[in-house]
Amino acid sequence: MSPSYVVELREVTKVYNGHVRALRGVDLTIGFGELLAIVGPSGSGKSTLLHMVGTLDRPTTGTVRVAGHDIAALPDRELSALRGRTLGFVFQQFHLAPGVSALDNVADGLLYSGVPLRARRERAAAALERVGLGHRLAHRPNQLSGGEQQRVAVARAVAGDPPLLLADEPTGNLDSSAGSEVLGVLRDLHAAGTTIAIITHDAEIATWCSRQVRVRDGLIVDDRGDGAVRPAATTKGART
Ligand code: ADP
Repeated sequence: MSPSYVVELREVTKVYNGHVRALRGVDLTIGFGELLAIVGPSGSGKSTLLHMVGTLDRPTTGTVRVAGHDIAALPDRELSALRGRTLGFVFQQFHLAPGVSALDNVADGLLYSGVPLRARRERAAAALERVGLGHRLAHRPNQLSGGEQQRVAVARAVAGDPPLLLADEPTGNLDSSAGSEVLGVLRDLHAAGTTIAIITHDAEIATWCSRQVRVRDGLIVDDRGDGAVRPAATTKGART
């Protein structure tokens, strides 16, 4: 049976160093096709929540299911494989290899997919096309603007067609026009069917998403909206 949610967290807690209660009992489900923002002040537990949703770390107690799999039941190797085929990540830092073309930065993201080099490059070119960089395949990171570099990072995250894209402060290192450019790309990807969760402390980005999950002191204190795409008219200006 196919799972109802991409990710399902039930009563998740995370305690660091035996006493820092970063998450204190979180229930969160992310449905296929949603666009949601996870917002909250610094120190509220957003990154920890991202680590749980992204299976980068395991909870202290509670259940995390990704694409229907209870991650507690999976050895590390299987968990990495599940992560590789289910989740794409975009961070505030672009994490691109310097001196390597945009095409190969994206193609290298598929290294562990078992796809041969030529097909990896074809997929990479298609992903760069999707983020509007089809004309920049041979450019190296230092030949690209910040907004373009982040779009390469987005292309790398979606090249393998993961059901869920997790973006952690994706515009944090960008000026507002480059930030709008990247948000426009995320909006387009979402409209084309990708499920996207954006972790941010930026209230403006949060209003741009149709579901907002508010975190405070390790708890979800508000969860509103339905995660569906907003009509283009209300996101006007999100792209320059
Ligand atoms: P946010 O992303 O909202 O800024 P975090 O999830 O990073 O919040 O942090 C939540 C709480 O957990 C904070 O008190 C933070 O200091 C603590 N914390 C986060 N990561 C660790 C860690 N690896 N070890 C110890 N404490 C941590």
